[in-house]
Amino acid sequence: MSVLVFTEVSKGRIKKSSLEAINYGLKIANDNGSSVTAVIFNEESPEILQELGKAGAKKILTIKSDLLADGNTRMSTNALEQAVNAENANTVIFSHDYTGKAIAPRLAARLKAGFVGGAIAYPKNDGGFSVRKNVFSGKAFADYIITSEKKVITLLPNSFQVELNAGTAEIVAFNPTLDASQKRITVKEIKKSSGTLTLPEAERVVSAGRGMKGPENWGMIEELAKELGAATACSRPVADIGWRDHHEHVGQTGVTIRPNLYIAIGISGAIQHLAGVNGSKTIVVINKDPEAPFFKSADYGIVGDAFEVVPKLIEALKKFKAGQN
Ligand code: FAD
Repeated sequence: MSVLVFTEVSKGRIKKSSLEAINYGLKIANDNGSSVTAVIFNEESPEILQELGKAGAKKILTIKSDLLADGNTRMSTNALEQAVNAENANTVIFSHDYTGKAIAPRLAARLKAGFVGGAIAYPKNDGGFSVRKNVFSGKAFADYIITSEKKVITLLPNSFQVELNAGTAEIVAFNPTLDASQKRITVKEIKKSSGTLTLPEAERVVSAGRGMKGPENWGMIEELAKELGAATACSRPVADIGWRDHHEHVGQTGVTIRPNLYIAIGISGAIQHLAGVNGSKTIVVINKDPEAPFFKSADYGIVGDAFEVVPKLIEALKKFKAGQN
Protein backbone atom coordinates (compact mmCIF):
# COMPACT_ATOMS: atom_id res chain seq x y z
CA MET A 1 0.00 0.00 0.00
CA SER A 2 1.26 3.51 -0.72
CA VAL A 3 0.30 7.12 -1.29
CA LEU A 4 0.94 8.12 -4.89
CA VAL A 5 1.77 11.76 -5.66
CA PHE A 6 1.80 13.19 -9.19
CA THR A 7 4.69 15.65 -9.57
CA GLU A 8 5.99 17.98 -12.26
CA VAL A 9 9.08 19.93 -13.24
CA SER A 10 9.07 23.55 -14.30
CA LYS A 11 12.09 25.50 -15.52
CA GLY A 12 14.51 22.74 -14.49
CA ARG A 13 13.21 22.32 -10.92
CA ILE A 14 10.53 20.29 -9.21
CA LYS A 15 7.51 22.59 -8.85
CA LYS A 16 7.04 23.93 -5.34
CA SER A 17 3.42 22.78 -5.48
CA SER A 18 4.66 19.23 -6.17
CA LEU A 19 6.88 19.37 -3.08
CA GLU A 20 3.87 20.56 -1.08
CA ALA A 21 1.88 17.62 -2.45
CA ILE A 22 4.67 15.21 -1.39
CA ASN A 23 4.68 16.70 2.15
CA TYR A 24 0.90 16.32 2.20
CA GLY A 25 1.11 12.72 0.99
CA LEU A 26 3.78 11.98 3.61
CA LYS A 27 1.46 13.09 6.41
CA ILE A 28 -1.23 10.71 5.13
CA ALA A 29 1.30 7.90 4.68
CA ASN A 30 2.64 8.38 8.22
CA ASP A 31 -0.91 8.21 9.57
CA ASN A 32 -1.70 4.96 7.80
CA GLY A 33 1.72 3.32 8.10
CA SER A 34 2.55 3.41 4.39
CA SER A 35 5.00 5.43 2.26
CA VAL A 36 4.96 7.99 -0.55
CA THR A 37 5.68 7.15 -4.17
CA ALA A 38 6.12 10.11 -6.52
CA VAL A 39 5.31 9.80 -10.21
CA ILE A 40 6.89 12.08 -12.79
CA PHE A 41 6.73 12.18 -16.58
CA ASN A 42 9.75 12.60 -18.85
CA GLU A 43 12.27 13.66 -16.22
CA GLU A 44 15.27 11.50 -15.39
CA SER A 45 17.89 13.78 -13.88
CA PRO A 46 18.73 12.37 -10.41
CA GLU A 47 19.75 15.85 -9.21
CA ILE A 48 16.29 17.19 -10.00
CA LEU A 49 14.43 14.08 -8.86
CA GLN A 50 16.11 13.83 -5.45
CA GLU A 51 14.31 16.99 -4.36
CA LEU A 52 11.27 14.68 -4.16
CA GLY A 53 13.19 12.42 -1.79
CA LYS A 54 13.98 15.40 0.42
CA ALA A 55 10.28 16.26 0.54
CA GLY A 56 9.42 12.76 1.75
CA ALA A 57 9.06 10.40 -1.25
CA LYS A 58 10.49 6.90 -0.67
CA LYS A 59 10.24 5.91 -4.30
CA ILE A 60 10.03 7.81 -7.60
CA LEU A 61 8.44 6.25 -10.68
CA THR A 62 9.75 7.93 -13.81
CA ILE A 63 7.63 7.43 -16.91
CA LYS A 64 9.18 8.29 -20.24
CA SER A 65 6.93 8.63 -23.27
CA ASP A 66 6.37 11.11 -26.08
CA LEU A 67 2.65 10.43 -25.62
CA LEU A 68 2.86 12.25 -22.27
CA ALA A 69 4.98 15.12 -23.49
CA ASP A 70 2.17 17.54 -24.31
CA GLY A 71 0.02 17.15 -21.23
CA ASN A 72 -2.46 14.82 -22.92
CA THR A 73 -4.92 14.05 -20.13
CA ARG A 74 -6.23 10.75 -21.49
CA MET A 75 -2.71 9.33 -21.88
CA SER A 76 -1.68 10.74 -18.51
CA THR A 77 -4.70 9.12 -16.85
CA ASN A 78 -3.90 5.79 -18.50
CA ALA A 79 -0.30 5.95 -17.27
CA LEU A 80 -1.27 6.96 -13.74
CA GLU A 81 -3.97 4.31 -13.45
CA GLN A 82 -1.34 1.67 -14.18
CA ALA A 83 1.02 3.26 -11.65
CA VAL A 84 -1.71 3.20 -8.99
CA ASN A 85 -2.32 -0.49 -9.64
CA ALA A 86 1.39 -1.38 -9.70
CA GLU A 87 1.98 0.42 -6.39
CA ASN A 88 -1.28 -0.75 -4.83
CA ALA A 89 -1.87 2.91 -3.94
CA ASN A 90 -5.00 3.78 -2.00
CA THR A 91 -4.57 7.57 -2.05
CA VAL A 92 -3.47 9.76 -4.97
CA ILE A 93 -2.49 13.41 -4.54
CA PHE A 94 -2.24 16.10 -7.22
CA SER A 95 -1.68 19.85 -7.08
CA HIS A 96 -4.83 21.84 -7.77
CA ASP A 97 -3.37 23.38 -10.93
CA TYR A 98 -4.18 23.00 -14.63
CA THR A 99 -2.72 19.51 -14.88
CA GLY A 100 -4.09 18.27 -11.58
CA LYS A 101 -7.56 19.65 -12.29
CA ALA A 102 -7.55 17.95 -15.68
CA ILE A 103 -6.29 14.51 -14.67
CA ALA A 104 -7.40 13.95 -11.06
CA PRO A 105 -11.19 13.74 -11.65
CA ARG A 106 -10.68 11.40 -14.63
CA LEU A 107 -8.44 9.14 -12.56
CA ALA A 108 -10.91 9.21 -9.66
CA ALA A 109 -13.69 8.07 -12.00
CA ARG A 110 -11.51 5.24 -13.34
CA LEU A 111 -10.58 4.10 -9.84
CA LYS A 112 -14.12 4.58 -8.48
CA ALA A 113 -12.41 6.71 -5.85
CA GLY A 114 -13.86 9.44 -3.66
CA PHE A 115 -12.55 12.81 -4.88
CA VAL A 116 -11.98 16.18 -3.22
CA GLY A 117 -10.66 19.02 -5.39
CA GLY A 118 -8.83 21.96 -3.79
CA ALA A 119 -7.98 20.68 -0.30
CA ILE A 120 -6.56 23.32 2.03
CA ALA A 121 -5.74 21.32 5.16
CA TYR A 122 -4.29 17.97 6.14
CA PRO A 123 -6.95 15.25 6.27
CA LYS A 124 -8.32 14.46 9.73
CA ASN A 125 -9.71 11.28 11.12
CA ASP A 126 -12.93 12.96 12.17
CA GLY A 127 -15.73 10.44 11.84
CA GLY A 128 -13.86 9.15 8.77
CA PHE A 129 -11.18 10.43 6.37
CA SER A 130 -12.12 14.12 6.41
CA VAL A 131 -10.73 16.64 3.89
CA ARG A 132 -11.31 20.40 4.14
CA LYS A 133 -11.85 22.70 1.15
CA ASN A 134 -13.25 26.16 0.46
CA VAL A 135 -16.85 26.42 -0.72
CA PHE A 136 -19.17 29.24 -1.84
CA SER A 137 -16.31 31.10 -3.56
CA GLY A 138 -14.18 30.94 -0.44
CA LYS A 139 -16.84 32.27 1.94
CA ALA A 140 -16.99 29.04 3.94
CA PHE A 141 -15.16 25.75 4.56
CA ALA A 142 -16.61 22.31 4.10
CA ASP A 143 -15.22 19.07 5.50
CA TYR A 144 -15.79 16.16 3.13
CA ILE A 145 -15.56 12.62 4.44
CA ILE A 146 -14.28 10.22 1.81
CA THR A 147 -15.74 6.81 2.50
CA SER A 148 -14.33 4.87 -0.47
CA GLU A 149 -11.20 2.79 -0.08
CA LYS A 150 -9.43 4.69 -2.85
CA LYS A 151 -9.12 8.45 -2.55
CA VAL A 152 -8.02 11.17 -4.95
CA ILE A 153 -7.26 14.68 -3.68
CA THR A 154 -6.00 17.86 -5.32
CA LEU A 155 -4.20 20.28 -3.02
CA LEU A 156 -4.41 24.07 -3.39
CA PRO A 157 -0.89 25.44 -3.97
CA ASN A 158 0.65 27.54 -1.17
CA SER A 159 -1.52 25.89 1.48
CA PHE A 160 1.56 24.75 3.41
CA GLN A 161 5.21 25.63 3.86
CA VAL A 162 7.41 23.06 2.13
CA GLU A 163 9.54 21.03 4.55
CA LEU A 164 12.64 19.32 3.19
CA ASN A 165 14.92 16.89 5.03
CA ALA A 166 17.90 14.71 4.16
CA GLY A 167 15.78 11.86 2.74
CA THR A 168 16.55 10.08 -0.51
CA ALA A 169 14.25 8.13 -2.79
CA GLU A 170 14.71 5.03 -4.92
CA ILE A 171 14.32 5.97 -8.59
CA VAL A 172 12.52 3.34 -10.68
CA ALA A 173 11.70 3.50 -14.39
CA PHE A 174 8.05 2.52 -14.94
CA ASN A 175 6.79 1.55 -18.37
CA PRO A 176 3.01 1.61 -18.65
CA THR A 177 1.33 0.30 -21.79
CA LEU A 178 0.17 3.36 -23.73
CA ASP A 179 -1.77 2.99 -26.94
CA ALA A 180 -1.16 5.91 -29.32
CA SER A 181 -4.42 5.17 -31.14
CA GLN A 182 -6.33 6.20 -27.99
CA LYS A 183 -4.94 9.71 -28.25
CA ARG A 184 -7.83 12.07 -29.01
CA ILE A 185 -6.08 15.44 -28.90
CA THR A 186 -3.09 16.75 -30.80
CA VAL A 187 -1.42 19.82 -29.37
CA LYS A 188 -0.36 22.06 -32.22
CA GLU A 189 1.50 24.72 -30.31
CA ILE A 190 2.65 25.35 -26.74
CA LYS A 191 3.22 28.95 -25.69
CA LYS A 192 5.39 29.13 -22.61
CA SER A 193 4.91 32.05 -20.22
CA SER A 194 7.83 34.42 -20.38
CA GLY A 195 8.12 35.29 -16.66
CA THR A 196 10.47 33.42 -14.37
CA LEU A 197 7.74 32.93 -11.74
CA THR A 198 4.77 30.65 -12.27
CA LEU A 199 1.60 32.27 -10.97
CA PRO A 200 0.21 29.45 -8.78
CA GLU A 201 3.55 29.10 -7.00
CA ALA A 202 4.41 32.78 -6.57
CA GLU A 203 4.73 34.06 -2.99
CA ARG A 204 3.80 37.57 -4.18
CA VAL A 205 1.40 38.56 -6.96
CA VAL A 206 0.65 41.95 -8.50
CA SER A 207 -2.68 41.82 -10.30
CA ALA A 208 -4.58 44.41 -12.32
CA GLY A 209 -8.00 44.83 -13.86
CA ARG A 210 -10.06 46.92 -16.19
CA GLY A 211 -9.20 50.03 -14.17
CA MET A 212 -5.86 50.03 -16.04
CA LYS A 213 -7.77 51.25 -19.16
CA GLY A 214 -5.63 49.38 -21.70
CA PRO A 215 -2.72 46.99 -22.25
CA GLU A 216 -0.34 49.86 -22.92
CA ASN A 217 -0.52 50.75 -19.21
CA TRP A 218 0.80 47.40 -17.92
CA GLY A 219 4.40 48.64 -17.87
CA MET A 220 4.00 49.96 -14.33
CA ILE A 221 2.29 46.74 -13.18
CA GLU A 222 5.23 44.73 -14.49
CA GLU A 223 7.71 47.14 -12.95
CA LEU A 224 6.02 46.94 -9.55
CA ALA A 225 6.01 43.13 -9.83
CA LYS A 226 9.70 43.16 -10.73
CA GLU A 227 10.59 45.34 -7.74
CA LEU A 228 8.68 42.98 -5.44
CA GLY A 229 9.89 39.75 -7.06
CA ALA A 230 6.23 39.02 -7.81
CA ALA A 231 4.30 37.29 -10.58
CA THR A 232 1.66 39.24 -12.53
CA ALA A 233 -2.03 38.33 -12.73
CA CYS A 234 -5.22 39.92 -14.04
CA SER A 235 -9.01 39.85 -13.83
CA ARG A 236 -10.99 37.83 -16.34
CA PRO A 237 -12.26 40.66 -18.58
CA VAL A 238 -8.68 41.78 -19.06
CA ALA A 239 -7.76 38.35 -20.42
CA ASP A 240 -11.02 38.06 -22.37
CA ILE A 241 -10.36 41.28 -24.28
CA GLY A 242 -6.80 40.22 -24.93
CA TRP A 243 -4.95 42.81 -22.85
CA ARG A 244 -3.15 39.95 -21.06
CA ASP A 245 -2.66 36.21 -21.65
CA HIS A 246 -5.25 33.86 -20.23
CA HIS A 247 -2.71 32.10 -18.02
CA GLU A 248 -2.72 35.27 -15.86
CA HIS A 249 -6.47 35.22 -15.28
CA VAL A 250 -7.28 34.46 -11.65
CA GLY A 251 -10.66 33.65 -10.14
CA GLN A 252 -13.47 31.17 -10.25
CA THR A 253 -12.90 30.38 -13.91
CA GLY A 254 -9.14 31.01 -13.85
CA VAL A 255 -6.23 30.10 -11.62
CA THR A 256 -6.70 29.79 -7.85
CA ILE A 257 -3.81 31.26 -5.91
CA ARG A 258 -2.82 31.64 -2.25
CA PRO A 259 0.23 33.90 -2.25
CA ASN A 260 1.57 35.60 0.86
CA LEU A 261 0.89 38.99 -0.76
CA TYR A 262 -1.77 39.82 -3.37
CA ILE A 263 -1.90 43.40 -4.66
CA ALA A 264 -5.08 44.14 -6.65
CA ILE A 265 -4.95 47.28 -8.76
CA GLY A 266 -8.04 48.65 -10.54
CA ILE A 267 -10.01 45.46 -9.83
CA SER A 268 -13.55 45.82 -8.44
CA GLY A 269 -13.50 42.60 -6.36
CA ALA A 270 -16.41 40.70 -7.90
CA ILE A 271 -17.18 37.45 -6.10
CA GLN A 272 -15.94 35.41 -9.08
CA HIS A 273 -12.56 37.17 -8.85
CA LEU A 274 -12.36 36.78 -5.07
CA ALA A 275 -13.00 33.05 -5.40
CA GLY A 276 -9.51 32.63 -6.83
CA VAL A 277 -7.58 34.95 -4.55
CA ASN A 278 -9.19 35.26 -1.15
CA GLY A 279 -6.97 32.55 0.32
CA SER A 280 -4.07 35.03 -0.04
CA LYS A 281 -2.39 35.74 3.30
CA THR A 282 -2.32 39.55 2.85
CA ILE A 283 -4.47 41.45 0.34
CA VAL A 284 -3.70 45.03 -0.67
CA VAL A 285 -6.28 46.85 -2.80
CA ILE A 286 -5.66 49.98 -4.84
CA ASN A 287 -8.86 51.43 -6.28
CA LYS A 288 -10.12 54.94 -6.89
CA ASP A 289 -13.65 54.01 -5.78
CA PRO A 290 -13.90 53.86 -1.97
CA GLU A 291 -17.06 51.73 -2.40
CA ALA A 292 -15.27 49.07 -4.48
CA PRO A 293 -16.30 45.67 -2.98
CA PHE A 294 -12.66 44.52 -2.89
CA PHE A 295 -11.97 46.80 0.09
CA LYS A 296 -14.16 44.53 2.24
CA SER A 297 -11.68 41.67 1.71
CA ALA A 298 -8.55 43.82 1.93
CA ASP A 299 -6.00 43.83 4.75
CA TYR A 300 -4.70 47.16 3.46
CA GLY A 301 -6.43 49.53 1.06
CA ILE A 302 -5.36 52.61 -0.84
CA VAL A 303 -8.19 54.77 -2.21
CA GLY A 304 -6.57 56.50 -5.14
CA ASP A 305 -5.88 56.62 -8.83
CA ALA A 306 -3.62 53.72 -9.83
CA PHE A 307 -1.83 56.01 -12.26
CA GLU A 308 -0.67 58.12 -9.33
CA VAL A 309 -0.34 55.48 -6.61
CA VAL A 310 1.58 52.76 -8.47
CA PRO A 311 4.46 54.98 -9.70
CA LYS A 312 4.84 56.32 -6.14
CA LEU A 313 4.92 52.77 -4.77
CA ILE A 314 7.60 51.80 -7.29
CA GLU A 315 9.66 54.85 -6.40
CA ALA A 316 9.31 54.14 -2.67
CA LEU A 317 10.33 50.52 -3.17
CA LYS A 318 13.36 51.50 -5.19
CA LYS A 319 14.43 53.96 -2.51
CA PHE A 320 13.84 51.36 0.19
CA LYS A 321 15.91 48.80 -1.66
CA ALA A 322 18.68 51.27 -2.25
CA GLY A 323 18.76 51.84 1.51
CA GLN A 324 17.78 55.49 1.13
CA ASN A 325 14.63 55.25 3.19
P1 FAD B 1 -14.45 46.22 -13.41
O1 FAD B 1 -15.56 45.53 -12.73
O2 FAD B 1 -14.76 47.08 -14.58
O3 FAD B 1 -13.71 47.09 -12.30
C1 FAD B 1 -12.69 47.99 -12.56
C2 FAD B 1 -12.30 48.62 -11.24
O4 FAD B 1 -11.24 49.51 -11.48
C3 FAD B 1 -13.43 49.43 -10.59
O5 FAD B 1 -13.57 49.03 -9.24
C4 FAD B 1 -12.94 50.87 -10.67
O6 FAD B 1 -13.32 51.64 -9.55
C5 FAD B 1 -11.44 50.66 -10.71
N1 FAD B 1 -10.71 51.76 -11.37
C6 FAD B 1 -11.03 52.38 -12.55
N2 FAD B 1 -10.09 53.29 -12.87
C7 FAD B 1 -9.16 53.25 -11.87
C8 FAD B 1 -7.98 53.95 -11.63
N3 FAD B 1 -7.51 54.87 -12.47
N4 FAD B 1 -7.29 53.67 -10.50
C9 FAD B 1 -7.72 52.72 -9.60
N5 FAD B 1 -8.87 52.04 -9.79
C10 FAD B 1 -9.56 52.27 -10.92
N6 FAD B 1 -13.76 37.68 -13.06
C11 FAD B 1 -12.50 37.40 -12.67
O7 FAD B 1 -11.67 38.30 -12.43
N7 FAD B 1 -12.10 36.08 -12.58
C12 FAD B 1 -12.93 35.04 -12.84
O8 FAD B 1 -12.51 33.89 -12.76
C13 FAD B 1 -14.26 35.34 -13.24
N8 FAD B 1 -15.13 34.32 -13.50
C14 FAD B 1 -16.44 34.64 -13.79
C15 FAD B 1 -17.35 33.61 -13.98
C16 FAD B 1 -18.67 33.92 -14.26
C17 FAD B 1 -19.63 32.78 -14.45
C18 FAD B 1 -19.08 35.25 -14.38
C19 FAD B 1 -20.50 35.59 -14.67
C20 FAD B 1 -18.17 36.29 -14.22
C21 FAD B 1 -16.84 36.00 -13.94
N9 FAD B 1 -15.89 37.01 -13.76
C22 FAD B 1 -14.63 36.71 -13.35
C23 FAD B 1 -16.22 38.42 -14.03
C24 FAD B 1 -16.53 39.20 -12.75
O9 FAD B 1 -17.87 39.05 -12.43
C25 FAD B 1 -16.21 40.69 -12.95
O10 FAD B 1 -16.96 41.17 -14.05
C26 FAD B 1 -14.72 40.99 -13.19
O11 FAD B 1 -13.95 40.40 -12.17
C27 FAD B 1 -14.51 42.49 -13.20
O12 FAD B 1 -13.20 42.74 -13.61
P2 FAD B 1 -12.49 44.09 -13.15
O13 FAD B 1 -12.61 44.25 -11.68
O14 FAD B 1 -11.15 44.12 -13.77
O15 FAD B 1 -13.35 45.21 -13.93
